Amino acid sequence: MVVSLAASPRAVDNLSVPPDLGHEFTLAPGGAIALPSWATLNEQFYAQCLSIGLPHHGALRNGVEFPQDNPYFTSYRTGNQWGTPEAVDGLLYAAGRVRERFGPSNKLVLGDISSQFGGKLGHHKSHQAGRDADVGFFFVDGNPGFLERGTASNLDIPRTWAFAEALIETGSAQMIFVDWSVQEILYNYVKYRLNAPESYLTQVFQYPNRGNRSAIIRHVRGHLNHFHVRFYSPVSVANAVRARYTDSGLAGLQQDTYERMAGRAVELPQAYRTSGERMSYRTMPANSRRITHTVRSGESIWTIARRYNVTVSEVRQWNNLGSSARLRVGQKLVIYGKKKPHAL
Ligand SMILES: [Zn+2]
Repeated sequence: MVVSLAASPRAVDNLSVPPDLGHEFTLAPGGAIALPSWATLNEQFYAQCLSIGLPHHGALRNGVEFPQDNPYFTSYRTGNQWGTPEAVDGLLYAAGRVRERFGPSNKLVLGDISSQFGGKLGHHKSHQAGRDADVGFFFVDGNPGFLERGTASNLDIPRTWAFAEALIETGSAQMIFVDWSVQEILYNYVKYRLNAPESYLTQVFQYPNRGNRSAIIRHVRGHLNHFHVRFYSPVSVANAVRARYTDSGLAGLQQDTYERMAGRAVELPQAYRTSGERMSYRTMPANSRRITHTVRSGESIWTIARRYNVTVSEVRQWNNLGSSARLRVGQKLVIYGKKKPHAL
């Protein structure tokens, strides 16, 4: 398909311009999410999910089922919406950002993530390790209830872009696959309406250069009605590696050996989800970086929470501190602080 740049600004001419055009373009460093050390993995709230192997040749253990009672997504079918906590968090966080910026918004349609234990899922090539999710777009006429094809006339472009942008700026999305035609619409909006710098555009969009294979948003034929988002899931991947399900190890394995290995039940001391209990999928914010804070004299949980702009109950939760727990000088606390945006 040949796409003419000159024709494209028309596609966004009639948009209502979003309220927050003091737009700052930020990119989390791609792929640079630091993995926790082996020694500290057990302190992580994500420590019990294993994203095993590769998105197109993998498995999932102790994944999180996407919560149906959330304010941002509807599902046209359920059952195969199991993912890593990082993926589930990333989706909820990004949709929450859209709501923050634009106020009331229609729900997005969520398609498949992975099956409960991962592995081959229906007609999908990937979606095997809890790190891929199919998500529809925002439309000016509301939520269609299914994955509807997006065009310049039916897309709610500002919201659809804000959703993709939130996935990108938090560093939670490794790649977003979508058809060239949808990418063109978003690209033109970001370039001509939001005046994004070229350096940002080339890192984010493969469009208009097919040879740009390092962009986050990439063309996949036929993805006209949804984003296929692949999430970095650093802790869940590291857990699998630690449990000896290594990507590098897989390279030399025959498929049947691998499938036996991936099919083996992994028993872990504590399941991420305990049956009958509401899971807490917001334990580690998607836009976070892990900080170790050493308690100094005179500090309290309250002063530490304030310092990192988090809540007292979060600090307690991340560190397993009961309400009567007292801090001692020199004690190490884990804090998930807000990630500093990287300006381009
Ligand atoms: Zn997909």
